[in-house]
Amino acid sequence: MEEIMYDLIILGGGPAGLTAALYGARAKLKTLVIESKIEGGQITNTTDVENYPGIDMINGAELGAKMKKQVVEFGAEFVYDEVVEAELKEEVKKIKTKEKEYEAKAVIIATGADPRKIGCPGEEEYAGKGISYCATCDAAFYEGLEVYVVGGGDSAIDEALFITKFAKKVHIIHRRDALRASQTLQKRAFDNDKIDFIWDSTVKEIKGDMTAKELVLENLKTGEVKSITSDEPFGIFVFIGYVPNTKLFEGQIEMEKGYIKTDEEMHTNLDGVFAAGDLRIKTVRQVVTAASDGAIAAVNAEKYIAEKEGKLYEGFKENK
Ligand code: NAP
Repeated sequence: MEEIMYDLIILGGGPAGLTAALYGARAKLKTLVIESKIEGGQITNTTDVENYPGIDMINGAELGAKMKKQVVEFGAEFVYDEVVEAELKEEVKKIKTKEKEYEAKAVIIATGADPRKIGCPGEEEYAGKGISYCATCDAAFYEGLEVYVVGGGDSAIDEALFITKFAKKVHIIHRRDALRASQTLQKRAFDNDKIDFIWDSTVKEIKGDMTAKELVLENLKTGEVKSITSDEPFGIFVFIGYVPNTKLFEGQIEMEKGYIKTDEEMHTNLDGVFAAGDLRIKTVRQVVTAASDGAIAAVNAEKYIAEKEGKLYEGFKENK
């Protein structure tokens, strides 16, 4: 199989990976981004991004596409492929994808996170048949119908508000009696006539035939179990957080509950391996913080490569 040597390989093409690629390519590193799905990562599931500095409002997928275009224009390579193996401990890092084998002097892991599943019976069976994890992709199917949104964080509320553009009613099912979402989003949801709340409840089971037809809920305070059915189709949208995409690196990279440990310079426990974005142990997971991680990781990767090659790195001055 063909092997290709890069200065920097970035795993993941979300905001963290693409920002790392921007900085890597601008520093004239031979840079490759490997993305298994679509550029932009999680933001492609977000309707509107309105908290990225300097941009009033932009569709998530559009922001991802712009980021990719920019890095490619600066000379980074971008491939759609799935990483199946990563050997990161040695000086030369080996990345095996479904299609090829690559080598790199430094690697930045920016593989992000996937939507968390409820884990109840019927969820897997009806995924894509009434259950969705992406409002941008699927909300339009529920024009004039009822939708149930599971979750109480920013994603659930943000997406519930978006779904009201299509659905006649959006019921938010939350396991507590207070939302986790920001005050701004909460206010918008409480002020929206199309939204109501089912508090203290979780989804116990999803039943149906060809599509989901019955939602079994349990009230966690009273223990009451109730079943929601309808003659009309209805949608179930799940937004209960994310699970980091780090399984591939288990046993090599230090993690806590699947999240990668780094220092402030994005170094992992392995020389020449950096991590950036939502898969890192941190508190604020936003597009802007992912981008920040990516920039820091790339600058430090550049420094690492320069030092390995005995070159003087003049990029930044460390505090003494
Ligand atoms: P999140 O903040 O972790 O919220 C997850 C929500 O799901 C919480 O309300 C949680 O309930 C609930 N939950 C978790 N596990 C559950 C389970 N097994 N069953 C039922 N409910 C469960 O996740 P997120 O909303 O996806 O947001 C992720 C990050 O992205 C956050 O940092 C958020 O601020 C950011 N984000 C920002 C924006 C924006 O600024 N517009 C939009 C989207 C996301 P509890 O509250 O009881 O824990």
